[in-house]
Amino acid sequence: MLVVKKFGGTSVGNKERILNVAKRCIEDYQKGNDVVVVLSAMGKMTDELIAKAKEINPNPSRREMDMLLTTGEQTSVSLMAMAMDSLGVPAISLNAFQVAMHTTSVYSNARIKRIDTERIFNELEQRKIVIVTGFQGVDRFDNYTTLGRGGSDTTAVALAAALHADACEIYTDVDGVYTADPRKVPEAKKLLEITYDEMLEMATLGAGVLHNRSVELAKKHGVQLVVRSSLTTEEGTVVKENAKQESSEISGVAGDDDAARIAVLGLEDTPGIAFKIFNVMAKKNVNVDMILQSVGRNDKKDISFTVKEEDMDLAVDSLKDYLPEGSYEEINVKNDIAKVSIIGAGLRNNYGMAARMFEALYEANVNIRMISTSEIRVTVLVNRADMEKAMVAAHSAFKM
Ligand code: ADP
Ligand code: ASP
Ligand code: MG
Repeated sequence: MLVVKKFGGTSVGNKERILNVAKRCIEDYQKGNDVVVVLSAMGKMTDELIAKAKEINPNPSRREMDMLLTTGEQTSVSLMAMAMDSLGVPAISLNAFQVAMHTTSVYSNARIKRIDTERIFNELEQRKIVIVTGFQGVDRFDNYTTLGRGGSDTTAVALAAALHADACEIYTDVDGVYTADPRKVPEAKKLLEITYDEMLEMATLGAGVLHNRSVELAKKHGVQLVVRSSLTTEEGTVVKENAKQESSEISGVAGDDDAARIAVLGLEDTPGIAFKIFNVMAKKNVNVDMILQSVGRNDKKDISFTVKEEDMDLAVDSLKDYLPEGSYEEINVKNDIAKVSIIGAGLRNNYGMAARMFEALYEANVNIRMISTSEIRVTVLVNRADMEKAMVAAHSAFKM
């Protein structure tokens, strides 16, 4: 059996934890399994590297950022190989270049295109544990890229798909996927199973326990995931196509404080304006999330939308460059905001559920700034200071 095991930053945060992970992987190996391990950078190393970069240059190039950040994962994989070696088990660490993990060239948000499997299979054949850097890739010009924050999960799933692994296990610092972030909503309940679709919405809307692209890939390739704790042997949460219907009304609540709102005010009320704005964002690789257009008045209208906070400056500068002078009155930005969402297949035919969420927010005295919905979710934009309160309130309004 071939197993891909991924461990996040906290799980490899210090010497003891690295040894703990090494032992867990060796247990698997000694059962006769082929073991491929994917690691994140130790603890908060990625954040620290970002802070270091900003000390030198507040606006570092994305290429150099990725070059820097790949060192985090390279540190943990080599230390892990040394740990396994010290325990008497042959292991080898490989970075994205050595594996040949091919990605697009979009620095800080690259997508995996193809993974060469030959080197990994060769090493496994020699009965080594293979330890691969998460989060990083290489583009067609041999530049290092990264897959976006939390991207090691995606590396693990992509590897599991490419290697046709029999299992893909995501080990982290919580013992599974909960109905909400258990650190923010103490009443949150652990789920035994969740569908790809629900997990994808949860992850996209801020449940950082899995990188959303990893869930997308898992669904596409039918890779069943298990999310569980690296510190306990508690059974985790299975993410798969069809999950057992639990008696809960919604599958969860998610919060995302990585958001900024951009409002372009006093735009001409003519055809093509929305196209101009969002075409610029697409060209600059800025992901746009919620969009709100006001009713036109006196031949003017406003368009507001949200982006990731790190993209805010780029988005505003590009709009100023591309929108013709005089075609708008003002661009207004706000970054102390957050999104709170309820997610669940049960929302499909039940309009009363949105109202119940709004009532709970009203009772908690949380002001809603924007609303957006899809078939299986309702998202509201709130002040960042209200995010946790809003998550707790929304969670308590439903049977979980
Ligand atoms: P890792 O470094 O292992 O990848 P992350 O910090 O990326 O760990 O993800 C684990 C964290 O995700 C947990 O500590 C928890 O606070 C957070 N989290 C957010 N939403 C959820 C959820 N619905 N269920 C479980 N954990 C969640
Ligand atoms: N180290 C990277 C990050 O902190 C990738 C990951 O942990 O998945 O975002
Ligand atoms: Mg993570």
